[in-house]
Amino acid sequence: MINPLNKITIAIDGFSSTGKSTVAKQLAQKLGYIYVDSGAMYRAITFFALQNKLIDETHFERETLIRLLPTIHLRFKFNKKLGFAEMFLNDQNVETEIRSMHISAFVSEIATVEEVRAYLVDIQRAMGKNKGVVMDGRDIGSVVFPDAELKLFLMADAKVRAERRLLELEQKGIQTDFESIYENVVERDRIDSTRLISPLTKVADAVELDVTHIDKTQQFNIIYKMALDKIKELN
Ligand code: C5P
Repeated sequence: MINPLNKITIAIDGFSSTGKSTVAKQLAQKLGYIYVDSGAMYRAITFFALQNKLIDETHFERETLIRLLPTIHLRFKFNKKLGFAEMFLNDQNVETEIRSMHISAFVSEIATVEEVRAYLVDIQRAMGKNKGVVMDGRDIGSVVFPDAELKLFLMADAKVRAERRLLELEQKGIQTDFESIYENVVERDRIDSTRLISPLTKVADAVELDVTHIDKTQQFNIIYKMALDKIKELN
């Protein structure tokens, strides 16, 4: 049993499709912590921008999006049947829509906007203010929770990541192909790692884990042990 007095903050960052959200979700469930998928929040803002025709292949009305940010209300609502929290944008359940390849194609550009990041970081910090949170993303250990007790940085070969992503999307009934996913994964990594504001980077106190040759069970076991060790250490 985990003593609730010793709740810690766990930040899981890393490249796209390294299994961050799967492991974060399992970890939170096992520890009785809150799980926050920060990527879902960037995806929901992207959904809003697309829905309001603020972005497409040829233009991006950045200033309009910034002006409309206060009208965007995001909420995670736990779905007992599914066993995880779904993303709601202004009271509309957008959980399925935000996972589409169309959203994936625009999300990293939306995530370069400083004001969007500031808006979401405030919400994320509020969600983790009492600790007992597992949050996954790109800037959790570096910006959102620089004082997190456990920080992980996940990486894996891009082809392996694209294969895993393909399988995951197929299981959700989303039609796509390996090449499109591979290109999207590589492109998002490029934009996420090179943007000026809060780029994806491994901070000095994060534990790096290459998951190319390990499966999801092994990945979970390794990270769960790290979390338990850290909780015990701080006891
Ligand atoms: O985690 P996921 O792959 O769903 O995230 C989608 C995108 O959202 C990332 O590729 C990145 O551009 C952006 N993101 C971010 N910072 C976070 C989480 C996600 O910039 N903390």
